[in-house]
Amino acid sequence: MAKEALASAEQLLPDRGAAVSQFNDPSNPFAAPVASSTAGATELPPGERGPMPTSVIVALVATGLMVLLSAIGSVGQLAAGEPAIGSLISVVIGILILLGIAKGHRLAHQWGRILVGIGAVLYTLGAGFGVVGVMMIANNPEILGADAPPELQNIDLRTAAMVGIAFLFGFVLLLWTIFFSLGTKSARRYFRLVCPSCGNTKVKANDFFFNRGKCKRCGVVW
Ligand SMILES: [Zn+2]
Repeated sequence: MAKEALASAEQLLPDRGAAVSQFNDPSNPFAAPVASSTAGATELPPGERGPMPTSVIVALVATGLMVLLSAIGSVGQLAAGEPAIGSLISVVIGILILLGIAKGHRLAHQWGRILVGIGAVLYTLGAGFGVVGVMMIANNPEILGADAPPELQNIDLRTAAMVGIAFLFGFVLLLWTIFFSLGTKSARRYFRLVCPSCGNTKVKANDFFFNRGKCKRCGVVW
């Protein structure tokens, strides 16, 4: 893998071939990490993970749309004088995941799936409760009671609620799209989360930043 990274780094930077080739020195124990991290910092070596598969492109586009929707939601909430902490957190997390996916970093895959999965479950429940609530109020306006504010009987408010729920469902759809597209084998391969020895996709981090993974089945570290 280091040789491939090195070869592609030399292709990318022909004028720096001499500088790169010093990492070929077998007596240098730091050769492989230095060479691969140098190449990764500038441009992904094509030999290392191949072109971005459709699943990862789908995840990237869906994450971009999620950030956009969260940003629109934040602006709407702030304009309405409501706290927008939840959607602002979504924007920040979304941007971090977006950058991590674009770089193909394993942590982005791992945390992206965990956070997006939690968000997908919560927002699905929220959208479901929203639909039930709107339907209940639409069918029985009297359940709001005699002291219900008159504006709750207003048709415009119901329309606004329906728009809000449609918005929520769009968000839910994007979250599940990100979750499942990152879970495909092609995405795992792109993020180097498939064991090179046995093909297992259950991988745990072997260091804090997940620069190396360890196969949960055969214990190979790469
Ligand atoms: Zn393995």
